[in-house]
Amino acid sequence: MSAIRVRCNKCGSVARVESSKEIGGGLKQLYCSCRNVECGHTFVMDLTFSHTLSPSALDLPDNVRARLQQGRISATEQPLLFAELAG
Ligand SMILES: [Zn+2]
Repeated sequence: MSAIRVRCNKCGSVARVESSKEIGGGLKQLYCSCRNVECGHTFVMDLTFSHTLSPSALDLPDNVRARLQQGRISATEQPLLFAELAG
């Protein structure tokens, strides 16, 4: 979880994620403690999946994925391909 930087909502200092708990349904709770010794706020942040920006290649049909891996679909073609599959 070190890649996620959580800030204390009281003082704005960087807080440490002490532990996290999987709630289910894509929800995770992060148990955080503020590193500012004068603050010492401990709190829980909810981490949820929001939405997809670019589709996972794992969702692609095998034949399309093979073509992508072989570099037979150019970068400019990829968004069109994804749009086609989504529609
Ligand atoms: Zn704080």
